[in-house]
Amino acid sequence: MARRTITLTDALYDYILDVSLREPDALRQLREETARHAMAECQISPEQGQFMALLVKLIGARRTLEVGVFAGYSAAWVALALPDDGQLIACDVNEEWTAIARRYWKEAGISDRIDLHLAPAVETLAKLVQTGQENSFDFAFIDADKANYDAYYEYCLKLVRPGGLIALDNTLAQGRVLTDSTSKYAQAVRALNEKLHADTRADISLVPIADGLTLARKR
Ligand code: CA
Repeated sequence: MARRTITLTDALYDYILDVSLREPDALRQLREETARHAMAECQISPEQGQFMALLVKLIGARRTLEVGVFAGYSAAWVALALPDDGQLIACDVNEEWTAIARRYWKEAGISDRIDLHLAPAVETLAKLVQTGQENSFDFAFIDADKANYDAYYEYCLKLVRPGGLIALDNTLAQGRVLTDSTSKYAQAVRALNEKLHADTRADISLVPIADGLTLARKR
């Protein structure tokens, strides 16, 4: 009997996709289009997208946030899991990548659920707090520049309701969280992981899917 998470071989990983992935066509096309670009590693994996969609449905989320849109793949999974009147406020600064996102959101029929803010995410999140929207979101996904992860987390903790969920991506830093002692990326991830471990404001789990997805449920 396994007492720890098994190491995923390529064959086992392919098997997981074979027997569990239900990726909508528009999302598969989006993933295939972005896979050709140099920044493709910024995109979440398909089984992670499906997992987050399941979480969104499990908590009955209606209002959601995303920090770091890239080409819109994760936002599409979340938006598809929302009810018809659901809303996703998406934060990003890159017009080129989010133009791809908008194209596929339209194709997937979820454009009206996604409100894209092209501005630094801390500004958008601060504005949401200033306009009285604390405790009004059910779910937030943070997947952006690691130097600002702590700031994003603090804002999301204000904006998400008690019992709501914050998901933080890349918390194993592409597998380099232990070995990379120099990069700002890994340093920021380590500092955040240590902070989350001790944070009594949330219930947490670091899920070893993709390169680590930490779930924090606001108490
Ligand atoms: Ca990521």
